[in-house]
Amino acid sequence: MRQTLVAGNWKMNGSQEANHQLLEGLKAGVGEGMKSKVAVCPPAIYIAQTAELLSGSSIAWGGQNLSPEASGAFTGEISADMLLDLNCEYVIVGHSERRALYGESDQLVAEKYRTAEQAGLTPILCVGELLGERESGDTEAVVARQLDAVIDLVGMQAISAGVIAYEPVWAIGTGKTASPEQAQAVHAFIRARLAEKDAAVAESMQILYGGSVKPGNAAELFSMPDIDGGLIGGASLDAESFLGICRAG
Ligand code: PEP
Repeated sequence: MRQTLVAGNWKMNGSQEANHQLLEGLKAGVGEGMKSKVAVCPPAIYIAQTAELLSGSSIAWGGQNLSPEASGAFTGEISADMLLDLNCEYVIVGHSERRALYGESDQLVAEKYRTAEQAGLTPILCVGELLGERESGDTEAVVARQLDAVIDLVGMQAISAGVIAYEPVWAIGTGKTASPEQAQAVHAFIRARLAEKDAAVAESMQILYGGSVKPGNAAELFSMPDIDGGLIGGASLDAESFLGICRAG
């Protein structure tokens, strides 16, 4: 039985004051009767504040990105060890915004995944198709290509140490959610592809859905057999909305 995970991706949002309010709200609301594991991924500059406020709570935290390199002359980058130094459990890799806006290739995403996993972080690997790719019937080919790049580099053992997030790019921040059936179909495809290599890993893998998840649509999405929670952008910035999604898990 896979546990549900609901992870918030704050993207480039927040301030010390807003974060304080949000995290205190989450701490007050998370707990009794909530089956999902809950995590937040603030901007890197606020991870220390997040760690201080969440330490001792049941809420985990993580980074939104990391360097594939260990240390050295890489101005502006953040290493796996730095994330671990602030007790991060998770790190998002291959978010569609990083692929589209910062030119991250499948190969670079795979290298980041490898660095994170080898350091002992739990990478959340994002995969998903653009609207045009869905419309031309290429969803499975795109998702398979993104997934295979990581499997080929790290192997199934390392894959099993991470989490996959299926995030159709056309549903991210647009208010357009994939229907539970559309999402389930791709989740089942991902699980079947993993099962071709290792059935036990496929069965235990958490596969999250991301793309305009809200309290009102979360329960239906999370009730699908291959959807094991969500990666939440906009709705993770409001404590009540995020908690509403967490309760749906
Ligand atoms: C995301 O950025 O990963 C995401 C799913 O965003 P949103 O929930 O705002 O669509």
